Amino acid sequence: MRNTLSVVQAASAWETGMRATPRRSLAELLAPLDRVAVHSPNIVVNRDARFKVDGESYVLPRYLFVGPRGGDAPIRIGIFAAIHGNEPEGAYATAQFLQFLEIYAELAAGYCLSIYPVCNPTGFEDNTRHSRRGKDLNREFWSQSSEPEVGLLQAELTSHSFHGIISLHAHESNDGFYGIVNGPTLNKNLIEPALQAADAFLPLDKREWIDGFPARHSVVRESLPGVLSAPPVARPRPFEIVLEAPKGHPAYLTECAFVAALQSILTGYRKFIAYARNL
Ligand SMILES: [Zn+2]
Repeated sequence: MRNTLSVVQAASAWETGMRATPRRSLAELLAPLDRVAVHSPNIVVNRDARFKVDGESYVLPRYLFVGPRGGDAPIRIGIFAAIHGNEPEGAYATAQFLQFLEIYAELAAGYCLSIYPVCNPTGFEDNTRHSRRGKDLNREFWSQSSEPEVGLLQAELTSHSFHGIISLHAHESNDGFYGIVNGPTLNKNLIEPALQAADAFLPLDKREWIDGFPARHSVVRESLPGVLSAPPVARPRPFEIVLEAPKGHPAYLTECAFVAALQSILTGYRKFIAYARNL
């Protein structure tokens, strides 16, 4: 059950002088995914990435979705959500996306998708942007961070050498849905249709400045150092897209917007790869 507080947790919080705030339940988020995975020939659940915080054991959950064969070597995409723990929208959207793919597996034909619904498990439980160790994990990448979540995610980013990396966020300051992309034109060609797809469910952020960066057609082309990204030495560079949703809209619309944008990116990148292979 969500928002339940055990007697032990309450006593512990009282003893340490902390306010006994109910934790959001990771188990509740993951239960429907695990139920789908049990019967799915496409989904592999991985709970090997473990770490400890204040003596408590945590898992960085990963779901591998292997789409129907597309004829060539699978395209590897990483989808990362809730690295800011107070943005559960992305986590719930990845759960919806996986269940959606389970029904419409053809949409992931040719893909091997590594989905990380909760990159900041303690922040997700506590409903805080930072991890329980007080760190904004999305400023810690590739800078010799000692945060265990970052170490585990960096190991994933290195070992999978993704063709594409997609991160999901949802911030109070967002006026609407928008995207952040770095680098080559390909990213622009992927983000524009993805935003059009999301626009069916949520308004787009049309401001000329978003979060301190210049924006054009709801796309920002700069990002801060230390954000979740491919290893600095990775060549060729994968496409890297951040999808940013506004807060304060009905959950199902936000989830639909993310799912529609993700679906659009998969479709667009498959076309690009097919085109590139035929050159
Ligand atoms: Zn965020």
